[in-house]
Amino acid sequence: MSSSNFGVWRPIAENVEYNALESNSNAVMAVADTVRTTLGPKGLDKLLIDQAMNRHVSNDGVTILLSLKAIHPVARMIVEIAERQEQLVGDGTTTAVVMSAEMIKEGKRLIRELGVHPTKVVEGIENGVRHACHLLEGEAKLISINDVELEQVVRTSLASKLDGARLAELVITALRMVGENAKYNGEYDFNKSIMVIRKTSMEDQIVNGIVLERKRLDPELPLEVNGARILLTKLDLKPVKEAWIKENKNYQEILLMENDRMSKSREIVDSMVKTGANVVLIASPEVDQAVEDMLVARGVFAARVATEEIDHLIRYTGAKPVRVSEDLKKPDILGKADRIREDEDNGLIYLEGGIGRNMVTIIVSGTTKETSLERWRATIDGVNAAEAALNKGVVPGGGAAELHIIDKVKGLKLKGLEQVGLEVVTSALESIMRQILTNAGFNGLEKVMMAKVSPSGYGIDINSGDPVDMWKMGVVDPLLVKTMALNAAGEIAKSVLRIDRNLAAEDLSQQALSETKR
Ligand code: ADP
Ligand code: MG
Repeated sequence: MSSSNFGVWRPIAENVEYNALESNSNAVMAVADTVRTTLGPKGLDKLLIDQAMNRHVSNDGVTILLSLKAIHPVARMIVEIAERQEQLVGDGTTTAVVMSAEMIKEGKRLIRELGVHPTKVVEGIENGVRHACHLLEGEAKLISINDVELEQVVRTSLASKLDGARLAELVITALRMVGENAKYNGEYDFNKSIMVIRKTSMEDQIVNGIVLERKRLDPELPLEVNGARILLTKLDLKPVKEAWIKENKNYQEILLMENDRMSKSREIVDSMVKTGANVVLIASPEVDQAVEDMLVARGVFAARVATEEIDHLIRYTGAKPVRVSEDLKKPDILGKADRIREDEDNGLIYLEGGIGRNMVTIIVSGTTKETSLERWRATIDGVNAAEAALNKGVVPGGGAAELHIIDKVKGLKLKGLEQVGLEVVTSALESIMRQILTNAGFNGLEKVMMAKVSPSGYGIDINSGDPVDMWKMGVVDPLLVKTMALNAAGEIAKSVLRIDRNLAAEDLSQQALSETKR
């Protein structure tokens, strides 16, 4: 089979099909257009309507993208990259999408209008992105937990969100409460120290401790225990009853087994209580009713917890989880906390004054499920932005950091046409400020030109339209959000620009058929 006829990879020449590039880039533009108007503090919201006709208003790049039934495979790539950006740094998704669209637009122009070979463009992108990230690192300022920049970075990240100013204050309070205690191996890790939960029925709240969205096993149990000695169990407490019935045991056998089950359960509960625990938190997927009943009879504060909560509970209370019944005999397995209590009205369990590492829980409210979901996501974005800022530093926001490294990126000397490929990266670097200002109602291009001739760190005040020092304005972004977005955009652009044909499986078999006939 000759691969040149096959057309998957073909040297650029007069006969290269631009159709794939055209259709792929159109798909990217269509996706990018759905989110670009949300960028920045003056960005607009989107009304999302799902298949069940539920309405939901969002300003969050990933949420919007995920709600699209992105059918085009290249469009789906964008969604995936945005998701990855969200997972890795938790912010900057719209930035990544806007930059990738810009790169593809510019790359397409170079390929189509100037006849630059895609591989040259791709090399230009690779070098340009690497260099730009390096330059941004050079611009970054390291900050510590008590610096004003920490507050600024949180406010900037939440500036475009529903009720962002209030959420920023919640996040900042939580950050200060956990403080240096959130450092693990020298880096801040707020996943381990700040929990964010949402609840529609109550006010926003910050709790110095862990809040579990649970109720006690039984309403008969005490509502509150002071001086909590906590047993955290992962024991297999699964009921065995159904298995016997399936095995068609006779009545006598079942009776014997039932007695056995009761005495085993009693044994387990006895040894749990013998540890001195007055709180039992159960992290087993299934629990035999007999065990539950006996725990209730003993009057200990008992509740189920989810697997995801176990690590938090271990860190916060110092409990050593019990995996096999022998563990119950080991010393020092109990965790300790000042108090555990259930708020019956809201169905929440509060655990406060743990003897282990600090933990803070932010409870975000919302009048509807949708607003609480949007506020919850925004709060997590803010926490993530703070983490990235503390670990890797901050740069001036509003697209200023990107804008002022453009000349230096251009100064990078590459051989031949790769140099032209750099333009792809510089256009992307310019696109962020342009879009933020366009969204604020200005002529974006004109304002970018104004900012460009201003000193480094200067951007445009989104209210007055005048050049301002972004550091002084307190508009700062985490370096990591910028470099990740730039890398993500580069990845998408490179793959899209490299594709010269979209082949579906059907096309391939058609091709193969005609090849064999020949
Ligand atoms: P993303 O999904 O990329 O995080 P956002 O809608 O959150 O998108 O917008 C983030 C951008 O908005 C950042 O570049 C940030 O610097 C910018 N921004 C936030 N507040 C301001 C402001 N007051 N003036 C100019 N730019 C701002
Ligand atoms: Mg953001």
